[in-house]
Amino acid sequence: MPADDVAQTGRMARSRPPSERPTKVCATCGRPFTWRRKWARDWDEVRYCSERCRRERHREA
Ligand SMILES: [Zn+2]
Repeated sequence: MPADDVAQTGRMARSRPPSERPTKVCATCGRPFTWRRKWARDWDEVRYCSERCRRERHREA
């Protein structure tokens, strides 16, 4: 497999089909979620599937 393709995974993902988008598991609800365009800049920092889960995390119920 081409080395360039591996090196750019997750960073320069411009024209990848939805099925090849990276996924993560939400730290709050534990459900998997898929890369979204709004996270393109800080996907490495994303831990929650939604704004709601992100807030829930801050409130130790
Ligand atoms: Zn969640």
